[in-house]
Amino acid sequence: MNISVAGTGYVGLVTGVCLAEMGHQVTCIDIQEEKIAMLQSGRLPIYEPGLEDLIEKNVTCGRLHFTTNPKYAYGNAEVIVIAVGTPEQQDGTANLTYVREVAYSIAQYMKNDVIVCTKSTVPVGTNDQISEIIQRHKPANHHVEVVANPEFLREGSAVVDFFYGDRIVIGSDCHKAAAFIEQIYLPLDIPIIKTDIKSAEMIKYAANAFLATKISFINEIATICEQVGANIEEVTKGIGKDKRIGPYFLKAGIGYGGSCFPKDTKALVQLAGNNQHSFDLLKAVIEVNNRQASLPVIKAKEIIGSLKGKKVALLGLSFKPNTDDVRQAASLVIIEELREEGAVITAFDPIAIPNALQVLGNTIEYTQDIRQALLHADLAIIVTEWEEIKQLPLETFELYMKKPVVIDGRNCYSLKEISKQPITYISIGRPIVTNEYKNSET
Ligand code: NAD
Repeated sequence: MNISVAGTGYVGLVTGVCLAEMGHQVTCIDIQEEKIAMLQSGRLPIYEPGLEDLIEKNVTCGRLHFTTNPKYAYGNAEVIVIAVGTPEQQDGTANLTYVREVAYSIAQYMKNDVIVCTKSTVPVGTNDQISEIIQRHKPANHHVEVVANPEFLREGSAVVDFFYGDRIVIGSDCHKAAAFIEQIYLPLDIPIIKTDIKSAEMIKYAANAFLATKISFINEIATICEQVGANIEEVTKGIGKDKRIGPYFLKAGIGYGGSCFPKDTKALVQLAGNNQHSFDLLKAVIEVNNRQASLPVIKAKEIIGSLKGKKVALLGLSFKPNTDDVRQAASLVIIEELREEGAVITAFDPIAIPNALQVLGNTIEYTQDIRQALLHADLAIIVTEWEEIKQLPLETFELYMKKPVVIDGRNCYSLKEISKQPITYISIGRPIVTNEYKNSET
């Protein structure tokens, strides 16, 4: 099948490459010339495990193409996947400019009957708008159907998620179009849910809102654990065994980030508000999450007093491990707060430094060497649970830091192991370990 994918970001590139791997002829189009030039020369604009090898393989077999030319991308496509960004606007609603531009461009350049498959996360009613735009501007002799096909892949495991996802949602008001898209996915042997367009659009927002709720819920319980002397890990073990609750997504920490949960929760609050419902529960979820990112600096000040002139090793820049994405990452909030306190920051990250540089410039120091970040530091803050951080021999903190004070925003280490170290260790929802450090300024 001839498939074109609009947008070569985390969703579009992975989708295009994996569809090519399934044997389809795929053309990926983006408006960013530099991104397409990189891809054409065999380099990747994003980091995603497993993607590079698949791109090389499918380009070599002639199944995968990259272009900025809509005539080439949309002219012969039977299916066009929309995977462009829907970023958050100031009022929290989703910016649909890019989606509308693609719709208009499809209408201008399509030369066949086509099925448009929307993977971008869009508010309920958007696929109807996409359909209207294309109907209004397309050639009269060609037919178009729009299918809502929300994406659930996770950055860092996107390729695996494409091939082994939990479910595929196909929302369509046309049986023929839904069946056509279903044929593409059938070889994956993933449960397929066929539904109407609006329900499909809502499934994506409801899923992200529910996951965000789980995170904020467990973080609230973690805060109470700290106050009463309980241990959040024991609590999650205890509640997670209940099949009605389940063990997943109950990890306490400094909150969710990334390009999806923060924007999708806000967009759903707005969607509800625009439809005469105040989604109070989700508003509280967002508020709790905003608080979590400020915990490391609050805890740091409690334990070592003023941070002015203190050297802080910030371990992890990306919003989660195995990705280079720093959008809405907790690191950005923590860095801003540390800078306001006058701290001197060296940030470690294995792959997200180029993206962080674009946001933060040279306001902080960066290193890919974790020991370099820790060298002579007064404080270490763990922001992202990278394997390099989790596997670090625990004595490294004492060996390299001026004072081994560690604030672990992701509960990376076992309390039993860390208790053997001469270290002050503060994590989330667990008892503090104070084996050596005493605040010399108080
Ligand atoms: P992204 O910002 O990484 O990529 C979007 C790409 O679209 C950019 O490369 C941009 O240049 C391109 N683009 C913009 N306008 C275009 C046009 N007219 N034609 C062609 N390309 C165009 O975004 P992303 O993270 O891949 O997310 C895409 C959508 O998928 C969003 O709606 C997002 O909410 C949703 N989503 C993302 C994830 C995720 O983990 N990133 C998961 C599920 C769903």
